[in-house]
Amino acid sequence: MRTPICNFCAKTGALCPEDSKKLKAGQISQLDVESSVKLTKLAEKDKVIDKLTLVKALRSNGEIILLLGSGNLKTLRMNPQSIESINRAFGTKVWLFEADISDRKLLEEVFYPVRVLTVNMVWLPDGSKLTKVVLPSFKGLEGKVDENVIKRVLKTLRGLDVMIEYERRTAP
Ligand SMILES: [Zn+2]
Repeated sequence: MRTPICNFCAKTGALCPEDSKKLKAGQISQLDVESSVKLTKLAEKDKVIDKLTLVKALRSNGEIILLLGSGNLKTLRMNPQSIESINRAFGTKVWLFEADISDRKLLEEVFYPVRVLTVNMVWLPDGSKLTKVVLPSFKGLEGKVDENVIKRVLKTLRGLDVMIEYERRTAP
């Protein structure tokens, strides 16, 4: 398990002078530290989690967003029990993303397993920018997509203002 703090700190939860300096300088946050300690503890018993890299942790309205190293998400999805134990350790919903993905890829991940059909930029008369996402329309989908939560996560992560629309069905 790799984290923003050193191995010693992640294992003990006490900060060495080097990592304290990073925390004071704002290079890492208290949440980064707490998350590193939690995940490192899990990694001792979980080989899948042990292979992960934590890049950064963020909080969005009580939920946790973990930004991971590239390729980490694929490994995790093959091991849903590891995702479960991460959620359990944090005691809240944990969003898992890779840190270096594009906005488009992030949108696909945030709506997963719902497929994103199109993404467009919309400029408003006041000069602000909206990201318009179109999702397929099928019965019951609206309930599966928690629009407010997703909007908040995207705003926290990338400063994106998102508008969600559903594909309009045309008669065959
Ligand atoms: Zn340290």
